[in-house]
Amino acid sequence: MTERVPLVVVGAGAAGLMAAIHAGRAGLHGVIALDSARRLGAKILVAGGGRCNVTHHAVSERDYAGSTPAAIRRVLGRFGVEDCVRFFEALGVTLKREDTGKLFPVSDDAHTVLTALLHAAESAGVSLRHPARVIAVHREGTGFRIHGDWGTLLADRLILSTGGRSLPKSGSDGAGLEMAQSLGHSLTERVVPALVPLKLVEGHWLTSLSGLAFPAELRVVDAAGRKMAVTRASLLCTHFGLSGPAALDISRHWTLARNVEPGTVLQLAVLPDLDESAADAWLLEGTGRSLLSRLRERLPERLTRALLDQAGVEASRSVQQLDRTARRALARMLTAMVVPVTGDRGFTYAETTAGGVPLREVRLETMESRLVPGLHLAGEMLDVDGRIGGFNFQWAWASGFVAGSAAAESARRAEPRPIE
Ligand SMILES: Cc1cc2nc3c(=O)[nH]c(=O)nc-3n(C[C@H](O)[C@H](O)[C@H](O)COP(=O)(O)OP(=O)(O)OC[C@H]3O[C@@H](n4cnc5c(N)ncnc54)[C@H](O)[C@@H]3O)c2cc1C
Repeated sequence: MTERVPLVVVGAGAAGLMAAIHAGRAGLHGVIALDSARRLGAKILVAGGGRCNVTHHAVSERDYAGSTPAAIRRVLGRFGVEDCVRFFEALGVTLKREDTGKLFPVSDDAHTVLTALLHAAESAGVSLRHPARVIAVHREGTGFRIHGDWGTLLADRLILSTGGRSLPKSGSDGAGLEMAQSLGHSLTERVVPALVPLKLVEGHWLTSLSGLAFPAELRVVDAAGRKMAVTRASLLCTHFGLSGPAALDISRHWTLARNVEPGTVLQLAVLPDLDESAADAWLLEGTGRSLLSRLRERLPERLTRALLDQAGVEASRSVQQLDRTARRALARMLTAMVVPVTGDRGFTYAETTAGGVPLREVRLETMESRLVPGLHLAGEMLDVDGRIGGFNFQWAWASGFVAGSAAAESARRAEPRPIE
């Protein structure tokens, strides 16, 4: 006979584990979490360079894109940073705050985080089954039939927390998005890689600076010159193009804008505090010095030499030896250089997914589907993506907490009560 349980969680990543733990802690017996991965928690282990950037000391809806800020705020408000810190502390994982505002385990080891979550799931009575890839889910009566090569399960309630499409080798290959669709949900018009490095035209001079990082501003600018998105952070040149927080944070804006706004460009400012006129004036103040030595005051030497080379200016020249046109062109290059992006490196290299199931299709107080009663959704599969810094995990913890607690509460209310 097919096993029937009150709740099945499909996907035991950050959001699914959080949901299962809180469903179990709320007193729901027989919670099963299924995951296709042989080894659980791949993304938790690779996160933050193996240290797992669990959250950020200051999280608000402004750190996210997708959906609407008001909707994101409501979910984040249910399980904030302090709740997250307390939750992990109670599991024996103390978090420390770094200068950037990011929170990491004091152990500097992501295994601490994963092990604590797995223990918490076990203590909450959750049965973790893996590898157990779910191939399809169907509505059956008021519940769900869940299929895989491992067999079939019947569940009164279902939480889908299968992630988006980023890092598909971890198991998050988008199959869960298709399951949500098969149950009646829609997806945003575009589902694209986010927090992903950007590729430049082959042989672009910035690629010759591979390994060099410097503070910069990147802007997505439309054909009318309007700034559609701006990031200011460290930029890393690589052999294929641009990476580092500045490039990763702007990537989703670039990808989404360039397809709808013809003429959209990516601008790079290596002197982000100055506009073109101010940079021109600053160059002029360096009278009597070589441009190399003037620019080196603010920029790494490798970058300075490459920039001057591209501008066709000899490094030993002084600013007086440039005519006004050449000087203005150099100032523009320093403050608003158009960089020819050919695309991004795709889901294989993306840290998260932009787009997914629209938040308007779920009740924010329970993360329950508005279309399919008994189905809850959590994590990256929803149309919410955060910037670099621990914001994506915070979304996973918060939405997982809400989904798991609410699913348990509804299941308990639906239980037949003993006759008094
Ligand atoms: C390299 C990298 C580094 C990152 N670093 C950070 C960081 O430091 N801080 C931060 O906040 N965020 C970071 N992120 C983002 C963060 O990992 C994600 O936002 C978060 O893991 C999303 O959680 P999730 O539970 O929604 O999805 P996932 O973590 O993707 O979990 C989904 C789970 O569902 C399972 N699954 C999928 N389909 C099926 C199926 N059909 N059947 C059964 N199981 C299935 C998968 O195996 C997986 O275990 C990083 C991401 C990457 C790729």
